[in-house]
Amino acid sequence: MLRFAPSPTGDMHIGNLRVALFNHILSKQLKENLIIRIEDTDKEQNIEGKDKEILEILGLFSIDFTQVLYQSENIKHHVQMAMQLILKKKAFNCFCTDEKLELSREQAKDEGKPYRYDSYCEILPDSAVIDNENPFTVRIKMPENNIKFTDKLKGEFDFTPFDIDSFIILRKDKTPTYNYACAVDDMLCNISTVIRGEDHLSNTPKQIHIRQSLGYDQEINYIHLPIILNLETGEKMSKRDDASSVKWLVDEGFLPAAVANYLVLLGYNPPTEIFTVEEAIEWFDISKISKAPAKFDIAKLKFINREHIKMIDEMRLSKLIGFADKDIGKLAKIYIEECNTIKEIKQKIDAIFSQKETLENFEEEFLKLKDCLQNAPFIDGFDELKKYITAQTKLKGNNLFMPLRFALTGVTNGPNLSEIYPLIKNYLGEII
Ligand code: GLU
Repeated sequence: MLRFAPSPTGDMHIGNLRVALFNHILSKQLKENLIIRIEDTDKEQNIEGKDKEILEILGLFSIDFTQVLYQSENIKHHVQMAMQLILKKKAFNCFCTDEKLELSREQAKDEGKPYRYDSYCEILPDSAVIDNENPFTVRIKMPENNIKFTDKLKGEFDFTPFDIDSFIILRKDKTPTYNYACAVDDMLCNISTVIRGEDHLSNTPKQIHIRQSLGYDQEINYIHLPIILNLETGEKMSKRDDASSVKWLVDEGFLPAAVANYLVLLGYNPPTEIFTVEEAIEWFDISKISKAPAKFDIAKLKFINREHIKMIDEMRLSKLIGFADKDIGKLAKIYIEECNTIKEIKQKIDAIFSQKETLENFEEEFLKLKDCLQNAPFIDGFDELKKYITAQTKLKGNNLFMPLRFALTGVTNGPNLSEIYPLIKNYLGEII
């Protein structure tokens, strides 16, 4: 079983979508199920509705999952297992106040040492614990030996007990911390492979330690994906970068198929540059992803988007633009040459249907032409149309073509009118 475990705390990041896509691909390759676990135990960080938005995005990208779990529904198990750990003396109640902990933190900072818990409460006698009514957290005791694991991408890791520390697993309100809830839930669902961002790498030994303390010895395969950097600044793609939000990309008119293609391509050397996720399932090898951070190049994504738009059938393309007419799909394909996204194509099509009052420098000619077109019979071909207008209005050269282009497309430059006219002739009344 694989899992994708988003937190409903903000817009879905492209890095998270990449994690979701790789989980989808691997679940197909391994023929194992994929579950979605909404990590919602940190109530203060949760944003209402983000869970639904994430699930909608996963649907849009055809990520195939068998179940959606909410981590908060497992809190009873988290608490129960923490009690087990306390009974087995693998965890302890910690009554240290925030002030005391803060002081130790500052002291460590002043001494230039990394902060670690001083184990004060670990050695409290039972009598000092049982009737103690002060608020307390639960801490797991640091491991006795090093925790080692192999990441499929990054190789071997070896963490000392000091790296891991005696860390908090239940907060004062008895809600689980991230590492604890995650470790327990991966265990309860018998997760075989965890694919996630490399920002979680230092959490992995803690999660392994939690499961080992609970007596669970089934190994989980880990794959931590390199972060995605902003091409220009070289910094991690963050909320400041619009393109880091999957919702923004979709709203801008990037096709899910193109975004998925791009995210699989990032840091990978595929047999072909343009592909579908279905095709990637055939050849993708997650261990061959580059270990170096990936650089997000929007120009490349735009190129891939155009290629995918070219591949869509005309009826579907027209529906994406708000029509249900193959001719409008064909028209959209003409505009691909000068557009990168569905939104940009839609702007071109909207301009065709926009209200056109006058055209600077051609005011008179435009009115004449408009009047002529309003009274024209249905004309099939563009040459015929030109002949008809010339005969009726006596307009020639630029005086004919500028107003005609403007009347038909709402702008004064663009693709050949002879290509456009046959596709819009049925809408002429509306357009003029
Ligand atoms: N909820 C974590 C996040 O959104 C992911 C945790 C995990 O995959 O283990 O970053």
